[in-house]
Amino acid sequence: MEMLCADCGCRVDAGVRTAVCADAACCCKDLPIRETPDGPTGGQFEVAPET
Ligand SMILES: [Zn+2]
Ligand SMILES: [Zn+2]
Repeated sequence: MEMLCADCGCRVDAGVRTAVCADAACCCKDLPIRETPDGPTGGQFEVAPET
């Protein structure tokens, strides 16, 4: 479950950051950063379908 950190603004999902804030005093700086925003299959999407 993804949630927004109320202190700095990072988006955190199960202890992993999916979006990083611009706060110099980020309270989540110790958390690892997930490179793919949402990749249940392992992050293999190069071209997003445009409708
Ligand atoms: Zn942060
Ligand atoms: Zn935080």
